[in-house]
Amino acid sequence: MSGMRRAMVWALGALGALPAALLVATPVAASDWPACVKELRTIATGKGVTAQVFDTALAGVQPDPDILKAFDSQPEFTIPIWDYLSGLVDDERVADGRRLMDQWAAVLAQAEQKFGVDRFVIAAVWGVESDYGRIMGRRELVRSLTTLSCSGRRQAFFRAELLETLRILQSGDIPAAALVGSWAGAFGQTQFMPSTYQRLAIDFDGDGRRDIIGSVPDALGSTANYLRRAGWVTGQPWGYEVRLPPGYGGPAGRRTKQSIAQWSELGIRQLDGSPLSGNGPAGLLLPAGAKGPAFIVFRNFDAIFAYNAAESYALSIAHLADRLRGGGSFATPWPTDDPGIGRAERREVQQRLLDRGFDIGTPDGIIGARTRAAISAFQASAGLPQDGRAGRRVLQALRAATPASGQAPAAVPPPKG
Ligand code: CA
Repeated sequence: MSGMRRAMVWALGALGALPAALLVATPVAASDWPACVKELRTIATGKGVTAQVFDTALAGVQPDPDILKAFDSQPEFTIPIWDYLSGLVDDERVADGRRLMDQWAAVLAQAEQKFGVDRFVIAAVWGVESDYGRIMGRRELVRSLTTLSCSGRRQAFFRAELLETLRILQSGDIPAAALVGSWAGAFGQTQFMPSTYQRLAIDFDGDGRRDIIGSVPDALGSTANYLRRAGWVTGQPWGYEVRLPPGYGGPAGRRTKQSIAQWSELGIRQLDGSPLSGNGPAGLLLPAGAKGPAFIVFRNFDAIFAYNAAESYALSIAHLADRLRGGGSFATPWPTDDPGIGRAERREVQQRLLDRGFDIGTPDGIIGARTRAAISAFQASAGLPQDGRAGRRVLQALRAATPASGQAPAAVPPPKG
């Protein structure tokens, strides 16, 4: 699991941070490539992949230079929790999610009934992992995974994933031409790694194929199956926001489990001041310390966490689920004087930077290296701290500096992968 988690975190990197440790690699020399492919062929055919499937899948495949370039050039960049959540849980994703939950209500009800997993959480995973199937990555899976199988420090991990990919092709579940995903091999509306797919993907529309790329029911059913297998407890909440007593300095952490009675003794209350509710061991999540929003989290938060081992990720799923259910934003503000902004406002920042002559490509709401560099340059010219962040402060400064322009463009599914 840990290997998959690392890869999943990396796959999510297109949305934000790329852990530097995963990006240290030696590019494969061109002369080594045929030898590596030959070795992979021996391994795969020794494990039940037919020579025909292997040869067809690998015919003409060359290393992906973008993956190798990313190894070399991607700087470490950590985004604050409020930026992370602002991009993943914004009004746009809530509105899209509600519309799609209506459209797929029957399938969600069926998944909820069969697996006992809250439909809002299933939908939230869908929304965060692939923007409801709109952003699934565009890289040929076989090419990416072969590149990663022949270069870098995690070749054994990626060779196993390549083997599972070849088995998908051999089974006929997903046609080769459709099998695209992220750099790291996460694919489909659920962004499963191939090995996760083999363990947990299901055929939920009954056509005999497990297709988490082309079938929404298969994707939603597979997500529900994943969460159930990760320990989801039917009918229980993931947790809820709480209020800490002033100056709280007690225990905290997702894995620091205590009873609700013990947390209550420490002075922690519901937002309205009433006693804590819920059963079973709970943790206290303080994503930005005791001065930011605080959350009591139960077993189901851990089940979401298992999907992609990061607390910020799990909180984004949990919060989006609550928003889809009709809930509001967090009651306690993040401890910052420069809050995060959603994708519509990020596109506006990008459009205003374009209007000022910064070449940052198409405004897509994804804050990449070029947008950050342009923001830093603008911040320098405006006398602001140069953090390269697309936050509230820089948006307001751009609006003040370019009052006549900067119409935010309409939402366009951005390229990713
Ligand atoms: Ca199917």
